Amino acid sequence: MIKVGIPRALLYYQYYPMWRVFFEELGVEVVVSPPTTQTTLFSGSSRVVADTCLPVKVFLGHVLSLVEECDYMFIPAIRSVKRKIYNCSKFLGLPDMTRAVIPESPPVLGIEVDVNRGRRRLYHTIYKLGRHFTWDPFKVRQASIAAWQAHLNYKQLMASHNFTPPQAIERIFGIPQAEPTARQGSLISDQTTIAIIGHPYLIYDEHINHRLIHRIEQAGSRVLTPEMVTTAELESAITKLTGRAYWTYEEEVVGAGEYYLGSGTDGVIGAMAFGCGPDSLMMDMVRRQAARLRATPFMSLTLEEHTTEAGIVTRLEAFLDMIHRKRRRRTEVCV
Ligand code: SF4
Repeated sequence: MIKVGIPRALLYYQYYPMWRVFFEELGVEVVVSPPTTQTTLFSGSSRVVADTCLPVKVFLGHVLSLVEECDYMFIPAIRSVKRKIYNCSKFLGLPDMTRAVIPESPPVLGIEVDVNRGRRRLYHTIYKLGRHFTWDPFKVRQASIAAWQAHLNYKQLMASHNFTPPQAIERIFGIPQAEPTARQGSLISDQTTIAIIGHPYLIYDEHINHRLIHRIEQAGSRVLTPEMVTTAELESAITKLTGRAYWTYEEEVVGAGEYYLGSGTDGVIGAMAFGCGPDSLMMDMVRRQAARLRATPFMSLTLEEHTTEAGIVTRLEAFLDMIHRKRRRRTEVCV
């Protein structure tokens, strides 16, 4: 059976169920790289210049770990998934960058997704991808319908059950994830809630964020993430704060930031990658809004290759301590 490799990085967390269902419907086996380790990060970093952003270095490390494991590498260039809203340039050049810096990679399936070029072009792109595995256009059509349905189900599962992407993927496919992530369940009245905003490839990669979710949960707080809010709510939050979205995946930062700052959570943490232009702009908008509202404490965490565990732990402890003190004060005033 033909094997297609999918790196467990960048857009994996958004689209894995959709991609996997598409390939499996065409009779292809999907191979996913193992969770990130220090070796993954080192090997990816060794192929690019130092100021490449951390998530891209991690992505290349995952590609390297799949080189011997598959016949094709699936690396789409996602330019735009909403009209007139574009993605960060790193995503656009990902297939070419991979070919250039990892020449030993199996052939890269680097389709370009840009909804601004119209439906016909998008369908043609999907057929072109499917033709690597079948000449039957009907089969490709059926596979793409099943894949889209899998994507909708995945998003619905996360929003309705408060699942994180790793939990939802485990639920759908039974793939055990590296580390436990946010818990499902109802809000316990005296438990603090902390929202983490940012891209899934930063929030759910436990190696690069030094187990952020796990640490907050260990401290007795409940964690909320952008996927636990519906797309409609995130879009309306963006409209409220900035009028309109400029970047693809802005919902994960600006939308989730605005939503959680006004939702009664005890604190909001913004996770961003060092050297990321879009994130520094988006996170700044959220920080300014938090300062304007003066209701919910906000802290941003910048993640990079040299971010140490001790650095994260110290900042997190100080932030949680401040939130607990604030909460205690409020309880005493009420008593
Ligand atoms: S959005 Fe930022 S972190 Fe993500 S790939 Fe682009 S530059 Fe890197």
